[in-house]
Amino acid sequence: MCNLFLNESLPPIFPMNDEQLLRYSRHILLDEIGIEGQDKLLSSHVLVVGAGGLGSPVALYLGSAGVGRITIVDHDRVDATNLQRQIAHNVARIGAFKAESAAQAVAAINPDARVIPVMQRADEALLDQLVPAADLVLDCTDNFATRHAINRACVRHGKPLVSGAAIRFDGQVSVYDPRSTQSPCYACVFPESDLFEETRCATMGVFAPLVGIVGTVQAAEALKLLCGVGQALTGRLLMLDGRTMEWSEMKLARNIACTVCGTPTPTPTPTITTTAD
Ligand SMILES: [Zn+2]
Repeated sequence: MCNLFLNESLPPIFPMNDEQLLRYSRHILLDEIGIEGQDKLLSSHVLVVGAGGLGSPVALYLGSAGVGRITIVDHDRVDATNLQRQIAHNVARIGAFKAESAAQAVAAINPDARVIPVMQRADEALLDQLVPAADLVLDCTDNFATRHAINRACVRHGKPLVSGAAIRFDGQVSVYDPRSTQSPCYACVFPESDLFEETRCATMGVFAPLVGIVGTVQAAEALKLLCGVGQALTGRLLMLDGRTMEWSEMKLARNIACTVCGTPTPTPTPTITTTAD
């Protein structure tokens, strides 16, 4: 179904109409964004994978900020245990697909933002279809297998990835940008071969506003990258301990031996030996 939308061009956005100039006036007033930056947002296409705790604030802020096209992928449906933290959903939409529920929440805020809900699991094939069409990807998922699949697709297609994670009271956020030769990818930092303990919100506790804090940082990094504002979190892992509300930062380096973005080891040329009788 999403094929229908991939090559569909956005309606012309120049110039912004009076309603848009008013709606985005607080962005336009910022020297770093202005009309030019807001135009970039309106003509951007962002892929959000996951419409849960992180995906909710991401979708709402990208939508309210005027990102022109937002594809949201999530195969799951809203249930009552989600509503403690997944702020794009509500009681009336329990049982609905999260991607559709998030699309409705954005539509109620900003009709400029066209949200394309995709109710499928984000597997390799789907990501290879969706990632090339996006300017930027946000990983708002809760499991390593999908995180690695998203990372591989972003490296393959050269798209910046804004990655967030939140569990219990701990949050992490970073940007992996394959357009920069210096930037690590997600697998440079969390190798695919490593056995991490899988701690998912589905079975573990998560402090409600934590996903809001991390998701909002993800949205901010995405908007900055789209407008070219400031310095992105590329090469830096920002970590939050919500118990003490202390942020710490770790510098991240690219791993040249990374199985995803590293230089492949050249296959040795077979040597032909001749033996003389
Ligand atoms: Zn890598």
